[in-house]
Amino acid sequence: MSREELLRELDRCQKCRFCIDQCPVYSYIDNAEYLAPYGRIQSMRYMLKGSYTVNDNLLYYIYTCLICAGCEIVCREAGESLEVSKLIRRSRTILSDALLRGEVEGTESSVLSYLLSSIVNNIRRVGDPLGLDKPYWLNWALSINVPKKGSTIILTSRMYQMAPYLPQITKLVDQARGMVSSKLLRKIITKASGLGLKISELRLKREIVNRSERILQGIYLSLTKLGLNPSFLYEDEPYSGALLYDLGLDDPLVEHSKKVYRLLKERDVKTVITVDPHTFFMLKQVYPSIIDGFDIEVRHYIEVLSSNIDVISKWNKLGGRYVIHDPCTMARDLGVIEEPRKVIEGLGIDLVEPEDKGIETKCCGGPIEYAYPKLSKKIALERLKRLSKFHSKIVSYCPICWINLGSYEEELNLEVRDLGELLYEVFFKTK
Ligand code: SF4
Ligand code: SF4
Repeated sequence: MSREELLRELDRCQKCRFCIDQCPVYSYIDNAEYLAPYGRIQSMRYMLKGSYTVNDNLLYYIYTCLICAGCEIVCREAGESLEVSKLIRRSRTILSDALLRGEVEGTESSVLSYLLSSIVNNIRRVGDPLGLDKPYWLNWALSINVPKKGSTIILTSRMYQMAPYLPQITKLVDQARGMVSSKLLRKIITKASGLGLKISELRLKREIVNRSERILQGIYLSLTKLGLNPSFLYEDEPYSGALLYDLGLDDPLVEHSKKVYRLLKERDVKTVITVDPHTFFMLKQVYPSIIDGFDIEVRHYIEVLSSNIDVISKWNKLGGRYVIHDPCTMARDLGVIEEPRKVIEGLGIDLVEPEDKGIETKCCGGPIEYAYPKLSKKIALERLKRLSKFHSKIVSYCPICWINLGSYEEELNLEVRDLGELLYEVFFKTK
């Protein structure tokens, strides 16, 4: 979409403001219109028309959007059907380019430009945004001997394995915001973004790392019980580039996705089974729009399980009650709503539906945690408050939701479980 097309789309906004209450950032934070879809759209319009320059405020309005598409439902009902997430993402391509070229002055812009450039560098250097010094994503597979070769693979995209590192790394980013010296700020952001950061320097919570491994093992074991034995690429396991997509880093995204596709073809991969909503979305919808002739079958493990519900219903019953949290990408972008319910109920769980469910689910706040941890925490706490009105045990199926909501489970005396953990319990009964 060209700049002119973007402006034409933004101009379609009727300023009716029907969408503003739907936005978690607006409604959970401080009811400031510039943080609502309407406000973000108008700010970008003014910038493109030349009456507003790129400054720290504009960056804050555009980069605090969760790209959750919650507002689009209301805009559609209002008869306008603006694809707000897509427009914000396209706006970010313009702003991210300017930030990477160092063209914007200000603290916010320094934090963002250092963050963006280190994300791009880390992905080029070690294949994922964390940029850590060791392959931290293998343990779950080594201990259950997942095969190395085969035309059907399980693609974790390192997502569940990255999750335990995020709270510490984002804490470092947040500290950098108070820095007035650009040299010091660069030093902290560089450290926070993983360049030169050693795994041994991070004080990880062992239990969270163990849980992330059990999630993947639970998913994998459930596939084997259906007669599937997907292989895993171990050291070569690629990251999908989902963060590049969300941040509008289009050139690095094209470069990275072509590299991933080349790798999959070299390894003769015919079918990929994904385990998280973001990788599923990237491979199902984004890669085919970038790569001509993309010809790899892409599935999600929940789809696979739900199409074998007759087998699942014969597995051990877990029992218990959980309220379901639909991840935005899964429900709104991919339309996968009934399948997880079928699988969870097939495990003998009594599922409770919250008020904001399915296509009307609310974001966990995770997509902005990398740059705005305080804002992200407020959104997570509000989401937890709403879910806990229905039950104190919450189940979801996304690594970002799991870590972002789960970070506060002790504080709020709640339980946040990933479906993978429940599957693990079916086979190992640890709880
Ligand atoms: S609902 Fe749509 S048209 Fe109305 S203000 Fe929001 S984005 Fe604009
Ligand atoms: S996409 Fe989500 S966070 Fe962004 S403006 Fe719409 S509702 Fe708000």
